Amino acid sequence: MDKNTIKKLGKILGSEHLTTEKEDLICYSYDATGEAALPEAVAFPGSASEIAEIMHLASKEEFPVIPRGAGSGFVGGSVPIRGGLVLSTKRLNRIIEIDMENMVAVVEPGVITGHIQSEVEKMGLFYPPDPSSLKFCTIGGNVAMGSGGPRAVKYGVTRDYVLGLEVILPTGEVISTGTRTAKGVVGYDMTRLLIGSEGTLGIVTKITLRLIPKPEKKATLYAEFPDTKSASEAVSGIMASGTVPATLEFIDKSALACIKKDLSIPLKQGVGAILIIEADGSRAAVSEDAARLKGLCKRFGAGNIVESSGRKEAEKLWDTRRAISPSLFRLGTKKINEDIVVPRNCIPKLIERLEAISKKYNLTIANFGHAGDGNIHVNIMLNKGNVDEEKRAEAATKEVFQTALDLNGTISGEHGIGLSKQPYLGMELSDKEIDLMRGVKKVFDPKNILNPGKIFPQE
Ligand SMILES: Cc1cc2nc3c(=O)[nH]c(=O)nc-3n(C[C@H](O)[C@H](O)[C@H](O)COP(=O)(O)OP(=O)(O)OC[C@H]3O[C@@H](n4cnc5c(N)ncnc54)[C@H](O)[C@@H]3O)c2cc1C
Repeated sequence: MDKNTIKKLGKILGSEHLTTEKEDLICYSYDATGEAALPEAVAFPGSASEIAEIMHLASKEEFPVIPRGAGSGFVGGSVPIRGGLVLSTKRLNRIIEIDMENMVAVVEPGVITGHIQSEVEKMGLFYPPDPSSLKFCTIGGNVAMGSGGPRAVKYGVTRDYVLGLEVILPTGEVISTGTRTAKGVVGYDMTRLLIGSEGTLGIVTKITLRLIPKPEKKATLYAEFPDTKSASEAVSGIMASGTVPATLEFIDKSALACIKKDLSIPLKQGVGAILIIEADGSRAAVSEDAARLKGLCKRFGAGNIVESSGRKEAEKLWDTRRAISPSLFRLGTKKINEDIVVPRNCIPKLIERLEAISKKYNLTIANFGHAGDGNIHVNIMLNKGNVDEEKRAEAATKEVFQTALDLNGTISGEHGIGLSKQPYLGMELSDKEIDLMRGVKKVFDPKNILNPGKIFPQE
């Protein structure tokens, strides 16, 4: 991008909404992986029409544009590896409409996910997808990554709540996908194609979300188990029991060690794993489900089971749960964070194999996550610059992915591919499948200007 291009961008945006200052560029150079590359400029557009103009210019002058929400991604998706323009959705932060009658919300992509949740809840409605980053990630990022969270076990993920999108194509053209209605089957399902496309096909500028009635009540249980085996067997047992919890989170001993100071329930000696389980629904159903879930935990060997006494206490427990990921740096200066998924009844086998991989490579692996839907966050901990550990971690990562695939699972449930998982894409997808996907990218973005270098291994 030369001076002339920067000048043209300034004209579109107004100079106060464009920066080329080094200290600003650094702030927009990385995401939660720690991977970093400097952009040449950062734009803060205030409308879809400005984005359309930017894309029109980018297409003409062929410079890369990298959409960015909060930069909380776990795979390097918003890192500008080929320079160019980072396009922040920070100013597109309006909830345009909450339609109570039709249970629909229309929002801009830069709205923080947790803010959507609290606003709709004030009106007795519910937007369930709850990535643990919900207090800072954006809904645009959630759509681009197909994000999920603890409540996916009962309610599903972002994809299940997006009815339609407004999208700016790499050429600057605007399209609308999907409907505002509960049903719609006109042509290919472009909405689903764009969800999880990691900012490589188009820039999402408006999102129509499906809402549901807010559950009347919820109960939050904290159950301690002597070891990971009994806790993981409880996960499979609960999921097979017919009682569907709203969340079913698993936390192993290594992960627990990192948050124990913040836990409101003092961690006892001899606890090898815990489950955080929620039941929600009508008052009567919640007390029945909570009693059943407690009974199931006991049957699988749980010792202490604590039911949160109120909303505040439950929220504190969730805040601590959400802090696990960053707190793992207490175990090492580098974290390889994977989010594999297996069929729910394979969770005990998976945990057993992950512990064997940890032993084999002599590396701490902290496991936690949304076990109820088979999704475990596998965190291989090492120390930056330790070449021997790096080598072992690389082999361990491959083995973790192979384990997930051997158990009929997948290498990513919600974090996506981005940069970090490119080398492993071919473990799950065939050449033909990858070729088809590359073909889709070419149709949307023939000049490869939108978030180039992501998802597909470099040719
Ligand atoms: C502590 C922590 C906990 C987390 N927990 C979870 C979890 O439980 N579940 C989960 O799924 N993820 C989780 N994540 C990962 C991350 O928060 C999600 O991937 C989130 O959806 C990213 O949103 P963002 O706004 O930060 O997007 P960014 O990181 O800014 O961008 C992510 C990708 O989306 C693209 N993008 C962003 N906005 C747009 C747009 N408007 N149009 C097109 N493309 C766009 C970017 O180009 C990039 O490829 C966690 C992260 C952290 C740090």
